[in-house]
Amino acid sequence: MSRTLIIAEHDGTSLNPSTSKCASCATALGQEFDIVVMGSSVNEIASQAAAIDGAATVIAIDAEHLANPLAANHASEVVAMADGYSHILGPSTTFGRDLMPRIAALLGVNQVSDISAVEDAYHFKRPIYAGNAIVDVHAPESAKLVATVRVASWKATGEGGSAPVENRSASAPASSHTRFIKLESGGGERPDLQTAARVISGGRALASNENFEMIYELADLIGAGAGASRAAVDAGYCPNDMQVGQTGKIIAPDLYIAIGISGAIQHITGIKDAGTIVAINKDPDAPIFEVADIGLAADLFSVIPEMKQLLG
Ligand SMILES: Cc1cc2nc3c(=O)[nH]c(=O)nc-3n(C[C@H](O)[C@H](O)[C@H](O)COP(=O)(O)OP(=O)(O)OC[C@H]3O[C@@H](n4cnc5c(N)ncnc54)[C@H](O)[C@@H]3O)c2cc1C
Repeated sequence: MSRTLIIAEHDGTSLNPSTSKCASCATALGQEFDIVVMGSSVNEIASQAAAIDGAATVIAIDAEHLANPLAANHASEVVAMADGYSHILGPSTTFGRDLMPRIAALLGVNQVSDISAVEDAYHFKRPIYAGNAIVDVHAPESAKLVATVRVASWKATGEGGSAPVENRSASAPASSHTRFIKLESGGGERPDLQTAARVISGGRALASNENFEMIYELADLIGAGAGASRAAVDAGYCPNDMQVGQTGKIIAPDLYIAIGISGAIQHITGIKDAGTIVAINKDPDAPIFEVADIGLAADLFSVIPEMKQLLG
């Protein structure tokens, strides 16, 4: 029974790229994998999952109580189908970090968190101490393995697959103690930070909510996600789901633009796997310039209007 189950992440309309990154990790495990898509009216999302290279089967579970990603409902459903699997993987996104520990707890196993590399099916690497050290994790082969996959460390697979889709009805009842009330999302139409190809972040130097609008405007001009340092979040300039870093989101965009951010180690941890890093900071000795591929030592309040003019 060496088989992997991947929990698909989606927003009800499209599959999140984190699912494909989990598929890359599952492929590295060297065993067949299925993908389970839970939700309401999930046919379209199931066909997107079926295109993921290497997927053996996509299991589509359609039920009204699974319409929203409530971990309480989704975890029981995964546990109900866990018997045929040795490994259960989910992304290290907010969705996965909410869901996977519940699955592990219900199955009575420890969770392996943040797999960044696979040595073999029970031996992994993961970062610790804000990414300053990499630890080898050996999991017991006698227990089911429940793990999150560090999405920033894995490339998405190709989309040339054509796995069969198996439709099932829900096996576990809806939770009686947790119910969905509403979703409040600050990002609007902006791309999800954890999967965006481009991200522009602002730091404490922005100095107010009003000035943070400049970050949103710039991000919208290039179709980027908008992020922030913890200092900017703590100061109340933007919502905390925008925080990038050790205690925020770990991201790996192709392009990361840090504006008015000093480059503290806890922030850099969140962008270690980014492609090109651009920094704008008026202090030429700011630590962010040590990791930046392109740096501009200048006042953001004069640079941003020029950037907007060029891009607009
Ligand atoms: C346990 C722990 C966890 C943490 N987790 C995180 C985390 O997840 N993410 C995170 O970001 N931080 C985190 N931090 C906080 C981190 O240590 C820094 O305090 C924070 O990143 C600093 O944010 P900042 O760069 O915006 O602010 P500052 O350090 O105040 O830097 C502001 C920068 O803006 C520049 N600047 C000022 N005015 C201008 C201007 N007009 N134009 C251009 N540049 C200008 C300055 O030169 C300076 O470099 C954590 C800290 C701890 C202890």
